[in-house]
Amino acid sequence: MTRIYNFSAGPSMLPEAVLRRAGEEILEWGESGMSVMEMSHRGRHFGAIAEKTEADLRELLAIPPEYKVLFLQGGATAQFAMVPMNLLRDRTSACYVDTGIWSGKAIEEASRYCQVVVAATARAGGFTTVPARDEWRIDPEAAYLHYTANETINGVEFQDVPESGGLPLVCDMSSNILSRPVDVERFGLIYAGAQKNMGPAGITVVIVREDLIGKTIPGTPTVFDYRKHADNGSMLNTPPTYIWYLVGLVLEWLKREGGVAAMNARNIRKAEKLYAAIDASSFYSNPIDPAFRSRMNVPFRLADASLEKTFAAEAAAQGLEALEGHRSIGGLRASIYNAMPEAGVDALIAFMADFERRYG
Ligand SMILES: *Cc1c(COP(=O)(O)O)cnc(C)c1O
Repeated sequence: MTRIYNFSAGPSMLPEAVLRRAGEEILEWGESGMSVMEMSHRGRHFGAIAEKTEADLRELLAIPPEYKVLFLQGGATAQFAMVPMNLLRDRTSACYVDTGIWSGKAIEEASRYCQVVVAATARAGGFTTVPARDEWRIDPEAAYLHYTANETINGVEFQDVPESGGLPLVCDMSSNILSRPVDVERFGLIYAGAQKNMGPAGITVVIVREDLIGKTIPGTPTVFDYRKHADNGSMLNTPPTYIWYLVGLVLEWLKREGGVAAMNARNIRKAEKLYAAIDASSFYSNPIDPAFRSRMNVPFRLADASLEKTFAAEAAAQGLEALEGHRSIGGLRASIYNAMPEAGVDALIAFMADFERRYG
């Protein structure tokens, strides 16, 4: 068996140690006599797994006690609706910063429930930057300010937490949660699908300040009510137990590796060397404002775009998989989340140099 380097944007690579552990425990977890997959979500064994997972996440992100941590279904896409349904309360508008394809989808969904005020948009420049903070127009009457910390498709990432003008700050952290330190107290709500940086697809983490929840818009389905999930320990209905457990294994791995600070240092090194390789050659290019280049998703193009298919195919043949860009924007993209080893980035850089020698 040869494991490849998988540059997929999500579902994405998992740490090998996590997969091995899951393999070892596939028939029996602890002394339970059964697989985690077979356990009742309400039984003591799974209860211990769920508790440990939340405790580890709280520790890794230093989540204060006044925040609830929820494990939900429906992906970040469900959050595009749940956020306005739960956080609008008595307000009729919400502010959104538009920095790419994922913020666009969040805006489109929120528009079904409220008046969306686009505080700033980077559309005119083709979503290659974050609009300057002094150009944002924040509606003081809005219920919250939403932004996408890392635009997974466009490759644009906020490098700090923006000021929200007093509004609760809501953030889609699907593709960079746990990749760098974050001050949770600055936020009203953070959400993130697991399949980029936390585990397999099928679970979504919501971290929400408790005083913001408990009043939904009329007609909100029960399974879309944060309060109901919070009151039931995220077990309002049957949760995706096995995915929850795998997220727990990823968090244990993260702690062993040195936590978010260690990931941050490693991610900076990985991204810097990949961008340096792209910038050093006129054969490759990255269109993003260097101040907002993503450390997680690195889109790049070849000067001769007709070679891009060949690039992706030859890379895949050498064990560097899934380098095609998102179907909506084309080009190439390397997703280099926490679980991508530095050696994987080194291998990609070596391949790029070799490909340029042969085709440049
Ligand atoms: C992947 C992704 C989503 C969508 O996640 P789903 O689980 O497919 O709903 C939303 N936002 C960002 C930033 C993403 O990377």
